[in-house]
Amino acid sequence: MAVRGGAWRVAEFPNLVGLIRHPAAGAILFDTGYAEHFFRATDGFPERFYRWATPVSLPPEECLQAQLARRGIAMHEVRAVFASHLHGDHIAGLRDLPNATIWCGGDALRLLRDGGRLHLLRRAYLPTLLPEDFERRHRRIEDAPQCALPARWSALGTGYDLIGDGSLWAVPLPGHARGHYGLLLRHDDDREWLLVGDAVWRQAEIREHRPPALPTRLLIDDAAAHLDTRARLHRVFADAQRANDGGIALLPSHCPHSYRALPASMRETDGDARTERSA
Ligand SMILES: [Zn+2]
Repeated sequence: MAVRGGAWRVAEFPNLVGLIRHPAAGAILFDTGYAEHFFRATDGFPERFYRWATPVSLPPEECLQAQLARRGIAMHEVRAVFASHLHGDHIAGLRDLPNATIWCGGDALRLLRDGGRLHLLRRAYLPTLLPEDFERRHRRIEDAPQCALPARWSALGTGYDLIGDGSLWAVPLPGHARGHYGLLLRHDDDREWLLVGDAVWRQAEIREHRPPALPTRLLIDDAAAHLDTRARLHRVFADAQRANDGGIALLPSHCPHSYRALPASMRETDGDARTERSA
């Protein structure tokens, strides 16, 4: 269902979390992925339908705590989480990160405040995943200074300089979910990486500028904005290709091919994470 023209079979959807080690700001996560809290939040009805629609496998060694421990980081040492959007599969681990500031988009927060339980569930929101002190700990992305993105990314408009040192930009990628953002950073390999969250599910959708498959359009918050975002991502990619510029990389959250193509130093698990579908 996720790939236009794809075969009818069970597909693999890894669920990526990014660890960013900022020299001054410390350990920062891009999303949290799944956690035990997701299973508790979807035990009852109607939330159980979410779990049925997106069956999850979460082996202990792939839990956030185990993965961070292998990098020498304890959960309480994580200083911030950048929530690309508030779908349950991206924020289920927030409750396990007691000291993290939580960045999220203003539109995502507004929907959270105004929506009823069913309305939110239909949009893949599970409010019980948010920590009790979420109000105190969250920061609106739009409250960070707005700034022009580095030249290669100008097709995506302006971004927000999260830390104020030009190292981490929140990039509006609207459409998939309310208040959906990507995160742009410069990695040790000197390339500029854009973590695109769920703006696309597969890298090939950017490269080939494929429209989303029909069934998945039903899950999209704003179809026109989603198509516009994908066209802009394609423009960035195509411009770089034309200029023979290898200095950019785009990484969707659920693309197994992109994950396996990462340098070994950037991967943590074997890449065979088995989440069969994801919102
Ligand atoms: Zn999503």
